Amino acid sequence: MCIFCKIVNGEIPSNKVLENDNFLAFHDLNPKAPAHILTIPKVHVDSFNELTPETMAGMTTFIQEVAETVGIKESGYRVITNVGDNGGQEVKHLHFHVLGGTKLKWGHEADANSADFI
Ligand code: 5GP
Ligand code: ZN
Repeated sequence: MCIFCKIVNGEIPSNKVLENDNFLAFHDLNPKAPAHILTIPKVHVDSFNELTPETMAGMTTFIQEVAETVGIKESGYRVITNVGDNGGQEVKHLHFHVLGGTKLKWGHEADANSADFI
C-alpha cells in the first residue's frame, strides 16, 4: 500500500485540513510555502494520467474549499500536480499541491528550448 493510502486509512498520521467522503487534504511534511497543502482522492489513483473527469470535478470543488478553509482563496494560490519522472512525481498517488500564503515565485521548471515542441 502506498504512503498516501496509509495516510487515508490512518496508518500514517497527518495534519488534516479538510476531508469529505472522496477526498482528503493535509499539510505537506516539507512545506515549500507558508501554506502547502496536499489534496488527494481517498481511492488510489496513480497520477493525473489516470484521473477521470468525474473525479476531477469533485477535486475542483474540494480544492476551492481547501483554499477557503486555510484562508488563501482571495489572496491567491497555486495548484500543481507533478506527473511521472520528468514531472518530478515522488509519491505515486495522485495529489494536487495547493501553495499560498505569500507571493509565490515562478520559474523553477528547467532550462528550456521549446523548439522541439512547437
Ligand atoms: P511530489 O514530489 O510527488 O509531487 O510530492 C510529494 C509530496 O509529498 C512532497 O512535497 C513531500 O514533502 C510530501 N510527503 C511525502 N511523504 C509525506 C508524508 O508522509 N506526509 C506528508 N504530510 N507529506 C509527505
Ligand atoms: Zn495510494
